[in-house]
Amino acid sequence: MSNPIPYGRQNITEEDIQVVIETLKSDYLTQGPKIVEFEKAFASYVGSEYAVAVSNGTAALHLCAMALNVQEGDKVITTPITFAASANCVRYCGGELVFADIDPETYLLDINKVRKLLEASPKETYKGIIPVDFAGRAVDLEAFRDLAVEHGLWMIEDSCHAPGGYFKDSKEQKQLCGNGNFADLAIFSFHPVKHIASGEGGMITTNDMALYDKLLMLRTHGITKNVEMFKNSIEFAVGTSSQLTEVDIMSRGDETYPAWYMEMQELGYNYRLTDFQAALGTSQLKRADKGLVKRKKIAETYFQAFLNKDFVKGQSGVVEGHAYHLYVLEVKNRLELYNYLRENNIYAQIHYIPCHLMPYYRQFGWIEGDMPNAEKYYQNCISLPMYPTLTTEEQHFVINTIINFYKYNEGNY
Ligand SMILES: *Cc1c(COP(=O)(O)O)cnc(C)c1O
Repeated sequence: MSNPIPYGRQNITEEDIQVVIETLKSDYLTQGPKIVEFEKAFASYVGSEYAVAVSNGTAALHLCAMALNVQEGDKVITTPITFAASANCVRYCGGELVFADIDPETYLLDINKVRKLLEASPKETYKGIIPVDFAGRAVDLEAFRDLAVEHGLWMIEDSCHAPGGYFKDSKEQKQLCGNGNFADLAIFSFHPVKHIASGEGGMITTNDMALYDKLLMLRTHGITKNVEMFKNSIEFAVGTSSQLTEVDIMSRGDETYPAWYMEMQELGYNYRLTDFQAALGTSQLKRADKGLVKRKKIAETYFQAFLNKDFVKGQSGVVEGHAYHLYVLEVKNRLELYNYLRENNIYAQIHYIPCHLMPYYRQFGWIEGDMPNAEKYYQNCISLPMYPTLTTEEQHFVINTIINFYKYNEGNY
């Protein structure tokens, strides 16, 4: 029996281990220099102005929804084919999810369905859109941005599957996922199955300075140490036991407020990443492009192997700019194939059970038939092993096992 082959896994090198050890021996386990280092490197990688490191991708989504001021009853549009967190962040703030169906070719949120929704309701019915770069395929955010602007909506790009992915805009320019040119905010996850692993971890990218400042504050309890933002008086901050000079009272320069002083101005959270996680993230980021090349090669091999096979109803194929977090096939006899692969130590996965039909979301009235493309996709989809350390032999074993399954079961489907 071969070693278990998962659908995705991390790749930790000796160098990764060394940087974590060094950070553990340093003065800062958290709130130290490794955070800013990681943020700068990540912003530069995706081409955004700012980046905010957080404890995980879900926390990133929550802070985005807060920074965009999602309120009780606000309607936000997203895709049903995503991890539940893409939708849940709206619920954390009391907002309401409106799912729109996927395009059956790309598996991404169908812009035409979104446009239909928007045009069927009075202006200001909806507040925002959360497109997801599902499987690593970049959403055409230029088209979505135009629609969002027309209807006065904000956009959060859930780019957990697509660091390094891109789409080509109307001028044939590459637009990297999370570069901040179209969406207000973008988020990433550093869970071990994602491209860059830090154990748990997440990142928010943006080109909007006001949102950036707000995110920094919300990440740390809603506390600010920025003297320009203080609301309480200097007299209060200094205390009555000290003498204030005329100059102190007038000034709001950084010398006047005592060094200990800070203000909690909003109800934030502790969503910080630790320094040793950030160090690991920075080290992993250095190999991100190498990983992308390998993922693309694996995708090409799968594509050729399953081209024109009658048991395949569809495959994600080889697409420029696709970051290949997942390689998805739509197949006949999916359950039997899935079980057969497991018997052979191959742990394929299903991405995703449509979010609108999760028991939690059914309580809001979503039922079977609401999202026909997503529901049909779910009947047949399977994600094959896809990660940079998957060996050629392992991939051939996966391919041969699938082909053999259908050969032996000929006539049964
Ligand atoms: C992984 C993932 C998340 C959540 O990230 P965590 O770091 O696990 O909290 C959100 N959206 C998508 C599409 C994801 O794949």
